[in-house]
Amino acid sequence: MIAALYVVPTPLGNLGDLTRRAEDVLCSVPWVACEDTRHSAPLLKQLGARAKTLPAHQHNEHEAAARIVDKLRAGEAVALVSDAGTPGISDPGARIVAAVRAAGCKVVPLPGACAATTALSAAGLADEHFLFHGFLPSKAGQRRQALAELAGHACALVFYEAPHRVLDTVADMAAVFGERTLVVARELTKLFENIDSLPLTVAVDWFQADPNRQRGEFVLIVSGAPPGDAGGEGERILRLLLDEGLGTKQAAKLAAAISGEAKNALYERALALKS
Ligand code: SAM
Repeated sequence: MIAALYVVPTPLGNLGDLTRRAEDVLCSVPWVACEDTRHSAPLLKQLGARAKTLPAHQHNEHEAAARIVDKLRAGEAVALVSDAGTPGISDPGARIVAAVRAAGCKVVPLPGACAATTALSAAGLADEHFLFHGFLPSKAGQRRQALAELAGHACALVFYEAPHRVLDTVADMAAVFGERTLVVARELTKLFENIDSLPLTVAVDWFQADPNRQRGEFVLIVSGAPPGDAGGEGERILRLLLDEGLGTKQAAKLAAAISGEAKNALYERALALKS
């Protein structure tokens, strides 16, 4: 095995999803850099891997990168794993990969489990393109602004969300995006895996109808803005009013009154357009 940083995806839930190549790498390298060494230890033990582990989490990526580069320069191979799925995808790893490459060392990515692509493969949306956003801001105002900035994209929008925030996030999505399709991919590859497709406008009621629907891990996919419709009639009016020099509040109020669309959503959109 050549001295390189091997970026190794690990299962989202079902251990059968570890690829044969990933197993080979984890069992061959002398070092495994882990987002959480305690979390990855059972998997390494189960594989019979004898590698030593070193921590490589969000708060020590800089030091971890330096240690990894030292090992690579000494001719040792290192694998990088996160708690689940692909490192660097809403997980630590990007800075380590950048530092390793900047040091002139080799990075070898392995294909494998990723919640976003797993959900997309079963979403069944007609959109030809998708935009991966990952986690939205936890603060409501920032979240709505981030959503408003995405509202005009004519591609499926892919989000990660935690169970305690899923209801608020879906409510904000409905307010900002209006009539779209929402795909809820919950607990992928696990015992209670569920993939549901529903109109975004009824999504809050749907989540509230059964508390189990708010449990577990989520990928939320929203269908894109209809082609040629960068946000609909409300947004078209909003843009005209902003171009005429109206303030965001007044423009949103008038655009809502004329189009019949939600004032809050148009206000968030106005803020995004201004910025
Ligand atoms: N690196 C991972 C990947 O490749 O998908 C993502 C890590 S991110 C910290 C964790 C988020 O991914 C969760 O909050 C959830 O949104 C999503 N996720 C992870 N496992 C999942 C699963 N089994 N089902 C649905 N979503 C999942």
